[in-house]
Amino acid sequence: MPAETKLFRCLNDNYGVLIHDPASGATAAIDAPEAAPIEAALKQTGWKLTDILVTHHHGDHTGGIAELKQNHKCRVVAPRAEAAKIPLVDETVSEGDKVSVGNLNANVIETPGHTAGHITFWFHADKLAFAGDTLFSIGCGRVIEGTMDMMWASLKKLRDLPGDTRVYCGHEYTLANIKFAQTIEPDNAALKTRAAQAAKQIADGQWTIPTTLDEERAANPFLRADVPAVAAHLGLAGKPAAQVFAEIRERKNKF
Ligand SMILES: [Zn+2]
Repeated sequence: MPAETKLFRCLNDNYGVLIHDPASGATAAIDAPEAAPIEAALKQTGWKLTDILVTHHHGDHTGGIAELKQNHKCRVVAPRAEAAKIPLVDETVSEGDKVSVGNLNANVIETPGHTAGHITFWFHADKLAFAGDTLFSIGCGRVIEGTMDMMWASLKKLRDLPGDTRVYCGHEYTLANIKFAQTIEPDNAALKTRAAQAAKQIADGQWTIPTTLDEERAANPFLRADVPAVAAHLGLAGKPAAQVFAEIRERKNKF
């Protein structure tokens, strides 16, 4: 049976998301920004929390773990490289490991850069990827602990997943990301389409998430650092893609 998901807002601009296996009843929270909205989503769906899958150690992704663990005795799965910074971890995982939520299976993809041990959970059969603060719609996370080269390599790994993969990320930054992206690729038709779609989604009180990798590959400048026209627009024609990526990321930091 296919996975079901429930998306909701947490804190100021974080997303919380549940993934549910209807066959076994297992339900995982991807990250735990805060307990109350996750409890509310569980109540609304009638799902029982069995697991928390943590993408990285930041407090706005882990602040609800202690309370949820106390209430549900759920398993906490976290990146091995960051386990010491995350409360109440039961299992640690790294590149290539498999994580099961009932009968649903995820592959662990290491996507460092935003933090040094950041991971993405890819449920390949369900075509779902939970990318935390690595890939946002039309954006990417700040490079805080890793290097620009590392982040570019991580984004390329995600870019290589099947195009119809639906991507869930940690924050609602889409409109601001689009505004910036239009300074990098003002003539990108896919970006114009995405801008109109996202503006309507927000105006209608909907989410801009999930996005798909096809959409992101076409419109997200952070996945397009190796497109010659992007490098040329930045005055970096012929330069390595990682350098072009770093330039885009630095411009965004100042935007
Ligand atoms: Zn973060």
